[in-house]
Amino acid sequence: MEKKRDERNYSKLDFGLRSDEVSPQFREVFISSGYRKPYSSAMDCVKSAFQPLNETVNVWTHFVPFLLFLVRFASLIWKYGVFDTYVYPVLSNTLGICGFLLMSSGAHLFNSMSPRTRHICFFFDYSAISVYSVGAGQAFYFYGRSPDHDSFFSSSSRFLTVSCLVSFLSTSMCCASRHRWSKMKYVVRTSCFVVAFFCNSAPYTHRLFSEPSHQHISDQELLALSYFKRHCWFYLIAALANTSKMPERLVPGVFDIIGHSHHFLHVFTALGAADQLTAIEIQMESRRSELEKFPIATFGNSLGLMVVICIINCGIVLWFGKLLRSDKEEEQKAI
Ligand SMILES: [Zn+2]
Repeated sequence: MEKKRDERNYSKLDFGLRSDEVSPQFREVFISSGYRKPYSSAMDCVKSAFQPLNETVNVWTHFVPFLLFLVRFASLIWKYGVFDTYVYPVLSNTLGICGFLLMSSGAHLFNSMSPRTRHICFFFDYSAISVYSVGAGQAFYFYGRSPDHDSFFSSSSRFLTVSCLVSFLSTSMCCASRHRWSKMKYVVRTSCFVVAFFCNSAPYTHRLFSEPSHQHISDQELLALSYFKRHCWFYLIAALANTSKMPERLVPGVFDIIGHSHHFLHVFTALGAADQLTAIEIQMESRRSELEKFPIATFGNSLGLMVVICIINCGIVLWFGKLLRSDKEEEQKAI
């Protein structure tokens, strides 16, 4: 009887359901309206991107930046070609950004298809962020590190191994958080990416803190630093929005369609990624003669590594996907 009643409601009201009209699996905390019909088709999901619903802004705030970063990627290829190995880490970085923006946009678009699809969509979303973090780590390493021979960062394989392990751990923890740590899941996910952020930007921050303060700092270096600082602020705002669930926590229902915390998370991660990439590009160009005295990137430890990291992260997602129960069971076990 319950099921029949639900189906009748859904058929009358295809879009814009209240939170009490969808099962807990499809609900977001403090968001009380604008839900799509659960078990919608892929075409319904695509159509929903053009309607005022609670996922619409999430879809567009990462799809539009995805297109803009594709243009930045094309302009890098246009400028440097595909055979200059020195620029491979910035290409990894840009592809990583495109990947996480597209995956996030897709996850928000198709997550109402079924409880299992919803989990898998967000598993891929987390894995794409982890892949991006390795691309960013490559860029910070090959363009931002100190020329000091005695530091931890003197070996690219040592640093990149740590970066990859953090990526795998981060994806695993985030996927696991969809079925456990119910009260802390946003904190767990945000913490994973904060750790990845500190780890992957460490070659650059290490240089900032280790080089003598009296050393001459070029205008280009100062410019890169200003972009890096703004990147940090944007990511901090995104992290605070994701963990605090403000402003919807204060007035549930008011910001359902536009202005809730996940929208801020999306906008500020896209802005932060743009500033990070700009800081990287400035260093890549201004430090080229200095860095080319040391081993530069190869295909294997840049773009090739990104392919391997993608495959392993997809493996982690598939493994967690295999652990999922049937749609009905997932719907009942929602946390
Ligand atoms: Zn999102």
